Amino acid sequence: MSIKVDIVTPEKMLYSGDVEMITLPGTNGQMGILRGHAPLLSTLDIGEIVLHSREGNEYLAVSGGVVEVRPDKVTILADVAEAGTEIDEDRAAAALERARQSLAENPPPQQVPEIMASLRRSSLRLKVARRHAGRRSTSGLNYEGGGESK
Ligand code: ATP
Repeated sequence: MSIKVDIVTPEKMLYSGDVEMITLPGTNGQMGILRGHAPLLSTLDIGEIVLHSREGNEYLAVSGGVVEVRPDKVTILADVAEAGTEIDEDRAAAALERARQSLAENPPPQQVPEIMASLRRSSLRLKVARRHAGRRSTSGLNYEGGGESK
C-alpha cells in the first residue's frame, strides 16, 4: 500500500508521486511514514528525505520547512530542497570549504550558528549526491545531523 507524497519548494514542485514509505528529518527526530499514519504537523530540520519504492530509493536534501502528514498523503513545504539528481557536488564542496575556513578563523559568536548551518547544508548535499550516485560517502564528514546521531 502506497502513500502519496508532494514536495514543494518556493521555486517549484520538486516531487509528486506514490511511495511505499518516506523518511524525513523532523525537528524532533527522523520520521518514517507509511500509509495510514496518524495526522501530524511538524517542522523540518536540515537533513535527508528518502522516498522508498519498489523501484528503489530516491534521495533528496531538505533545509527547513514544514510537513503535513495525513493517512493517505504527505505534503512537504520545504524552505530549500534539492533532489539528488540536481545537486552540484563542486558547489557543495566549495560551500563546505568556505564554512570550514570561516570557523577556523574564529568568527564572532553571533556568526557561528549561520556558519554551522552552512556546514550542515553543504555536508548534507554531498552525502545526498553521493547516495544518489550509489556511492558511499567517503569524506568522513557529517555535520548535518544537528543534535541527532545518524
Ligand atoms: P551556496 O553557498 O553554495 O550558495 P547555500 O547553502 O548558501 O549554498 P542555499 O541558500 O541553501 O545555498 O540555497 C540557495 C539555492 O541554491 C536553493 O535553490 C538551493 O536549492 C540551491 N543550491 C544550493 N546549493 C546547491 C548545490 N550544491 N547544488 C544545487 N543546488 C544548490
